[in-house]
Amino acid sequence: MTDQHEIYAIRYAHHDRKAAENFIGGDPHDVLQPLDYYVWAIVGTSRALILDTGFDAAMGKKRGREMIKPVHEGLRALGIDPGAVETVIVSHMHYDHVGNYDLFPRARYHLQDLEMAYATGRCMCHAAMRVPFEVEDVIAMVRKVFTGRAVFNDGEDEIVPGVSVHHIGGHSKGLQCVRVNTRRGHVVLAADAAHLYAHLESGRVFPITYNVAEVVEGYETLRKLATSREHVVPGHDPLVLARYPAAKPGLEGWIVRLDAEAKG
Ligand SMILES: [Zn+2]
Ligand SMILES: [Zn+2]
Repeated sequence: MTDQHEIYAIRYAHHDRKAAENFIGGDPHDVLQPLDYYVWAIVGTSRALILDTGFDAAMGKKRGREMIKPVHEGLRALGIDPGAVETVIVSHMHYDHVGNYDLFPRARYHLQDLEMAYATGRCMCHAAMRVPFEVEDVIAMVRKVFTGRAVFNDGEDEIVPGVSVHHIGGHSKGLQCVRVNTRRGHVVLAADAAHLYAHLESGRVFPITYNVAEVVEGYETLRKLATSREHVVPGHDPLVLARYPAAKPGLEGWIVRLDAEAKG
């Protein structure tokens, strides 16, 4: 038995926006810097773990995001039956990471204590802090708590051998990243601990933020957890699709393999 895993990034949605919208303090370049939306499949010898569950077409419409392919289609393209998935890891509870909440009827959901406390506590009294959350998503997670389908992590935890979660905070109070042992070393799925490569490279911060200091400290943590800088995968960067090879012929621009060496 090996604890090495394959990792797939599955793009499901897209949002065209100006570069200035991606950074506190804006950006001097008047160019588009779009976001892509992903879920990730972490595949071991006997099972697949899913990191984040995305949003559905109705939520995409409500939020003005372009749905490319529903999440379940991406999973099926990899031969993953959502109904058989037993483990979902939730990076944080923003609408684009924790929707589709009926897609995995057998799964237990791993999340940080702090994220559930944050999403159900006093900060949600403030409209400014509620913006990236959807109450139905939060209620769905509360229901999972009451049916024994939530598993709480506090800081650092091993999910299965070779896959661990690590609290980062910053962008959301209980945000966690995921470290995966692969054939090319330890790959770190940052999720929203780094939206774009540009955030990591320039030390700048995405505007939706609970705590700026934790965001920039988080960049260091991501790098420490990863085998190299090239092993950190940001959560919303279209460049991920360009840098990594397609999972299979025909899946170009949709699903890429992150345990393969990046191109160039
Ligand atoms: Zn987020
Ligand atoms: Zn996000």
